[in-house]
Amino acid sequence: MGKLRSILRWLREREAAITRQVGRLVEIESSSYDPAGVNRLADELSKEWKKRGARVERIRTARAAGRGDLLRCEVRPRKGAEKEQILVLGHTDTVYERGTLARAPFRVRGGRAYGPGTLDMKAGLAIALAAMDALGAAGLEPRRRVVFLWTPDEEVGSEVSRAKIEREARRSAAVLVLEPGTGPRGKLKTARKGVGEFTLEVTGRAAHAGVNPESGVNAVHELAMQIARVARFGDARRGITVNADVIEGGTRTNVIAEHARARVDVRVARAADIPRVTARFRALRPILPGARLRVSGGIDRPPMERRVAERLFAQAQRQARELGMQIEESSTGGGSDGNFTAALGVPTLDGLGAAGAGAHTPGEYIRTRSLVERAALLAALLHTL
Ligand SMILES: [Zn+2]
Repeated sequence: MGKLRSILRWLREREAAITRQVGRLVEIESSSYDPAGVNRLADELSKEWKKRGARVERIRTARAAGRGDLLRCEVRPRKGAEKEQILVLGHTDTVYERGTLARAPFRVRGGRAYGPGTLDMKAGLAIALAAMDALGAAGLEPRRRVVFLWTPDEEVGSEVSRAKIEREARRSAAVLVLEPGTGPRGKLKTARKGVGEFTLEVTGRAAHAGVNPESGVNAVHELAMQIARVARFGDARRGITVNADVIEGGTRTNVIAEHARARVDVRVARAADIPRVTARFRALRPILPGARLRVSGGIDRPPMERRVAERLFAQAQRQARELGMQIEESSTGGGSDGNFTAALGVPTLDGLGAAGAGAHTPGEYIRTRSLVERAALLAALLHTL
């Protein structure tokens, strides 16, 4: 096991270099809605992976989807390549529109690296490269074939990537997700809630609010009552949350509103609750006479339930101990692509990326030391899983 410790030492000496690598990736802006930016990042990553001898495949998405390409980088060990693979998941897109970098440039200060997308999750992409370098330097290999799949649309629901993620997951013994860890210590994520969105659209009848109010049907009033109803579908004890987060409707104050619409965020901790919650939304009927109600949407990211990650987490803990580190686990209401793979029953461990804070905010940063620790942990997992 001296070898694993030597990996950690080797990486420690390269903390600054790995941090610079994160910087190079952050400085290629890659909003989900900017396919050209995402593709420039894919170019850069593809160069880096080819340097390391990976088989790199660019998977183009339908132009109409308005997303960048997926990147699939495969590393084969000399022996054992035919066994079930390990899938490592990450995403190249960020929530930041182009131009954010000019206001919040990449910078390193006091053991932290700041910049849009550092934590979520360009650090994860750099950690994967560093892990492979560390294995190589120690004369070690991954035990199995490893597929690194970098997707362009995780931050906007993974519509173009989902089928590809699931196809790779079905061939995999385990899935390792390089999303950031939880909190300042970067706890791993062994459970995530399922996530969905429902839309309620109400059509009423417009009328003058003063002249003939009796012939109107107020869509805003109808929607307000429906929202009060769906708010009661939440159940904190079962880990179900229901939040109407966007509403719109009406035109002006003297006109009885003809249209109103709400978008409702729904999260469930257990897969078994999906049909029940969905049925409750589908069963909604108009309350005001003459109002029409249309309900659409659903829960499209199933929950990642803890039991699927349990053994994998225990293995990661053993590896961490041998490296002289401690890791902890956590659960979160946020979804990731790990939700899809865990729902297939494939052991999935998430939150293996950097530790830091402020994801999706201007103050986003990583702790640079965590780059080293996580690269060592990933190297150890790839070598032993
Ligand atoms: Zn992310």
